[in-house]
Amino acid sequence: MDWNNLGFEYCKTDFNVRFSYVDGKWSEMQVTDDEYIQMHMSASCLHYGVELFEGLKAFRGVDGKVRLFRVEENARRMQSSAARLCLPVPSEEMIVNACIEVVKRNERFIPPYGTGASLYLRPVMFGTTAGLGVKPSKDALLIVYCSPVGAYFKSGIKPILVAIDREQDRAAPRGTGDVKVGGNYAASLMSGEKAHHLGYSNVMYLDAAEHKYIEECGAANFFGIKEGKYITPKSPSVLPSITNKSLRQLAMDMGLTVEERHIPVEELPTFDECGACGTAAVISPIGKIFDMQTNEVYEYSQEVGPISMQLYTRLQDIQYGRAEDTHGWCTIVL
Ligand SMILES: *Cc1c(COP(=O)(O)O)cnc(C)c1O
Repeated sequence: MDWNNLGFEYCKTDFNVRFSYVDGKWSEMQVTDDEYIQMHMSASCLHYGVELFEGLKAFRGVDGKVRLFRVEENARRMQSSAARLCLPVPSEEMIVNACIEVVKRNERFIPPYGTGASLYLRPVMFGTTAGLGVKPSKDALLIVYCSPVGAYFKSGIKPILVAIDREQDRAAPRGTGDVKVGGNYAASLMSGEKAHHLGYSNVMYLDAAEHKYIEECGAANFFGIKEGKYITPKSPSVLPSITNKSLRQLAMDMGLTVEERHIPVEELPTFDECGACGTAAVISPIGKIFDMQTNEVYEYSQEVGPISMQLYTRLQDIQYGRAEDTHGWCTIVL
C-alpha cells in the first residue's frame, strides 16, 4: 500500500459485515468477503430512495492503538435516519459491534501512524422488499464496510473556495436534511457540478424557505469565528455533524462562547475565520465565498486562522492518541 498517496476512492478490503432484517427480525452478524449483494430489481431502495448511510474513521495512534471516533454517535444518527425512512431500526449495539468487527477483520488496511491516512468506515442500510407501490420496506440490509483513505490535506491544511447556490436547495424545511439519507446527496449533485465548473470545491446552501440564512457547505457543516465566539447554524434541515458537535465542545474547553443560531448571509463579512467541518477533513478553512447568483464575493485569509488551527489540532490529537481523551470519545479497538 502506498499510504501517502491514497485518495478518497473505494479500495477493496478483506471483509465486510452484514445484518439482514427478514420476517420481522434481524439476523446474526454475518462476516463475508463478498463485495456484491443480490437484490430484487423491484427493491424499494432502487425506486424510492429508501437508503441511508454513515461515515466515520478509525485511526492508528501514536501509541500503536487503533481508535474509532465517537462510533456511538454515528450509531444513534443511523437509527434516526432509519426511523425517518420507516425502516427497521437496528440497535446501537449492533451498529457499534459491526464497526468494531470490520476494523478488527481488516487490520492490515489500517494506515500506519504518521501518514495522515485512516480507515474510513461506511455503514449503509437500505430497504430490500420487492414491490411497486410506495410503502415502507418490510425487509432491510445493513452493511458495514471499510476502505483506507488518504490524508485530506496532502500538503497541510489549506483554505477552500465555496460557491453559494440560490437556485437549488439541498433539503427542505421539515424534509430529510437532518438525516443522512441518499436522496439528499442525489439532490445536491447538480449544484455541486455547477460550482466545480466555476472552480469552487464546495457549495454553500442557504435555508430553502427564505434563502437568507446559511445552512451547510456541501456535505459538511458551517462555522464562523469572531469576538471569542464559535457560531454555527441552527436549522432543522442541517445534518447534525458529529465533528461540529465535537468542535463545539472543544471551543468551550478553549474558553470560546458557542452560539447555535441563524446566520444571515450578510453576517459573512464580519467573521474573522470560517470553515466547513466533517469527518472527511475535520476542518476545511474557507478562503473565499462566491455567490453564483448575486456575484457577491466574501474573502478571508489564505492561511488557516489561529482558532480553526487550534480546534483542528485538538481534535486530531484526541483521534491519534496524542492528547488525553477527556470526553471519552474514542473506542480502542486494537
Ligand atoms: C455527513 C455530513 C456532515 C458531517 O457530519 P460528520 O458527522 O461530522 O461527519 C455534514 N453535513 C452533511 C450534509 C453530511 O452528510
